[in-house]
Amino acid sequence: MFVPVYDRAKVNRSFGPELEAAVLRALAGDLDADREVTLFEAEFAAWNGASHAVSVNSGTAAILAALLAVGVRPGDEVITVPNTDGATSSAVSMSGAGLVWVDVDPVTRTMSVEALEAALTPRTRAIVAVDMFGHPADIHRINALAARHGIPVVEDACLAPGAMIDGVKVGAFATATCFSFGRNKHLGAIGAGGCVLAQDGDLAERLRMLSGYGEARERSRSKSGPGEAAWFWHETIGLNQRLDEIQAAILRVKLPSLASNLECRRAQARRYEAGLAGTAVEVPRCRAGVEHAWRNYVVEVDDRDAVRARLAERGVGTNLCYTPPMHLQPAFAGLGRPRGSYPVAEAIADRLLGLPIGPHMGEAEQDYVIERLRECVGA
Ligand SMILES: *Cc1c(COP(=O)(O)O)cnc(C)c1O
Repeated sequence: MFVPVYDRAKVNRSFGPELEAAVLRALAGDLDADREVTLFEAEFAAWNGASHAVSVNSGTAAILAALLAVGVRPGDEVITVPNTDGATSSAVSMSGAGLVWVDVDPVTRTMSVEALEAALTPRTRAIVAVDMFGHPADIHRINALAARHGIPVVEDACLAPGAMIDGVKVGAFATATCFSFGRNKHLGAIGAGGCVLAQDGDLAERLRMLSGYGEARERSRSKSGPGEAAWFWHETIGLNQRLDEIQAAILRVKLPSLASNLECRRAQARRYEAGLAGTAVEVPRCRAGVEHAWRNYVVEVDDRDAVRARLAERGVGTNLCYTPPMHLQPAFAGLGRPRGSYPVAEAIADRLLGLPIGPHMGEAEQDYVIERLRECVGA
């Protein structure tokens, strides 16, 4: 048997001919009319219980647009965490702001609120909290601290659609919440995609302009520009980062199964926890009141690389996202944060091991993973 961490092709095949039909439907329509995009935005906002959804062409674009839309400018500082996808730190740097990392909580592996408080300066212009592996950041405490300082909070929920705090989905908490529809994410496009959820209508309109050439959304029907020039009327500086019709049509087919996708992952997480109890494998834990989204099931083990190699020999795929943490990556070497700067994030990165999880995997395969892992750690 071979159990991969994830099998995107198998998950896509499970939708049968519907994905092809969606592509053909989009192709047959007017690709400029944004019909599928507009419908998807309404459906994704409703699924999350959010007021406004602005779709973009990646999770990275979502974070960059959110930072620019809340007013981040060169010379500002933005605080985030080093243990995340490279896109989070890159988006901060691309905004022109100074990138400031703070260490994380060892249990939830999300931003330490104490470390955040210590890192705030008069130049802090935004906070990017990451819902690591699908576990929501401590967003209520982060919001309370940010509100005292008048700072907007951007939540990177790229790994966490459907994650909940006290029964409320992420998307309702931060000033702007960012999602990825990367091909291997819960809700995967066939190319790339992303979305920002916003509470505020003006912020949503700024997000649309920033990601769409600086043009108002209703540009083709707009009366705001001077007559014929309505198409070429730029309210602001803006990028070309909008979601396209084909991705939107694909995502509309997949969105109705996001709830069962999450249920499947939650059941698998419970089975892992039971199956690995009493072993040397440290299983992930949740803060009280949290419903995890389980994009990744990331355990921690001693002698990780050896365990990983033994699992590979036995046909169990694993991954190492995200190792090394960002401050130890060449891209950010210029910031001069050597090993030892973020001890909790480093300890996690040294020991983490991502196990197979997701709707591609059945119970027999998961049992195989559990048994092989128990063998490999000598349990
Ligand atoms: C995937 C991911 C991103 C980037 O999303 P893309 O769609 O790949 O650009 C950002 N942050 C986190 C935490 C992610 O997992």
